[in-house]
Amino acid sequence: MACYFLSGDKLVKIRKNVGFCKYGTTTKTPAATKTYIINRPSFYLWQLHSKANNSTLVQNESSLRIAIQKGGRLSEKTLALLENIGLEFDSYKNRILVPCRNYDVELLLIRDDDIPEYVQDGICELGFVGRNVTAENKAAVTSLRGLGFGKCRLSVAVPKNGGYKSLKDLEGCRIATSYPVLTRDHFEKQGISIDTIEISGAVEIAPTLNVADAISDIVSTGGTLKTNGLVELETILESEAELIQTNRAIAPHKKELIQKFLMRIGARQQAEKSRYIMMNAPSGAVGEICRIIPSLKSPTVLPLAENDMVAIHSVIPTHRFWEVMEDLKTAGASGIVILPIENMIV
Ligand code: ATP
Ligand code: ZN
Repeated sequence: MACYFLSGDKLVKIRKNVGFCKYGTTTKTPAATKTYIINRPSFYLWQLHSKANNSTLVQNESSLRIAIQKGGRLSEKTLALLENIGLEFDSYKNRILVPCRNYDVELLLIRDDDIPEYVQDGICELGFVGRNVTAENKAAVTSLRGLGFGKCRLSVAVPKNGGYKSLKDLEGCRIATSYPVLTRDHFEKQGISIDTIEISGAVEIAPTLNVADAISDIVSTGGTLKTNGLVELETILESEAELIQTNRAIAPHKKELIQKFLMRIGARQQAEKSRYIMMNAPSGAVGEICRIIPSLKSPTVLPLAENDMVAIHSVIPTHRFWEVMEDLKTAGASGIVILPIENMIV
């Protein structure tokens, strides 16, 4: 058996018994010199049987397959999260499928726009992708959890001095966007008719070039809009990176892998939100300190060599620490130390 994937017109050998082909493509495996016609929409992983006349879809039998963005704003944080939950990968360079060394997982590195469809079609059981992309694709997938990074919003923005005060003022206008589906839906819901001009990059320049009257684009800080003389009028969608799961049937052993995977991500997210706190205090101040930090339900209290002094150890939400630091000092706490937590199972 020969195993290949199709990259453009090139058939490239990747690993045993697995091939990568495109909808409507006719491929020839060099080893078997046999032609296979791929007839499923989208890209699929196929097993290319050298003896069979047709090809069979491979639902990779062992590894859990996770789609992540190959190179872009989400890639670094996604890979950091995977590494922080203990997954080890070999080099990602020039690879599409990257096996994990110590977990039954393989990563499929692709453009973010393709991730919702891959997950929807069950090529990958899981995917890390922006909510904006899943929503624009109207992909039938389940969002398992927000990941707290890649935060942005899809917003309608207009020229600062264009006299547009509300969305209604854009009736009959041309809106440049890379998100035509979400944009049209949003205006339609409000009974405002617009023309969308689909642009794939540098949308913010469209009004200056008189290609459009306004734009609907992804905004995070708003700096790009400002530079281009635009102001936000309305938010269409708040977004962050999400972990999505296929709605297709998942093999029982993969379900188990997903549960463990989710548990690890949950532990990591919990740890990121928390800090380990240590402080010294007079033993009489323990009650007051516990009142200041309600999450200190049952702190570890250790006697110190100094009479009537104790060390208090516990875990607190990070944001809470800065709110109560002064109160802790007033209550008698000293030598306060805050430490990051690697992982936290509650
Ligand atoms: P690809 O080459 O994979 O198609 P892309 O250019 O479409 O990448 P990126 O610019 O890498 O996408 O953004 C990926 C995701 O990061 C966006 O879909 C969005 O969810 C999120 N994001 C966060 N902040 C921003 C921002 N300021 N601009 C664009 N996307 C942002
Ligand atoms: Zn993209």
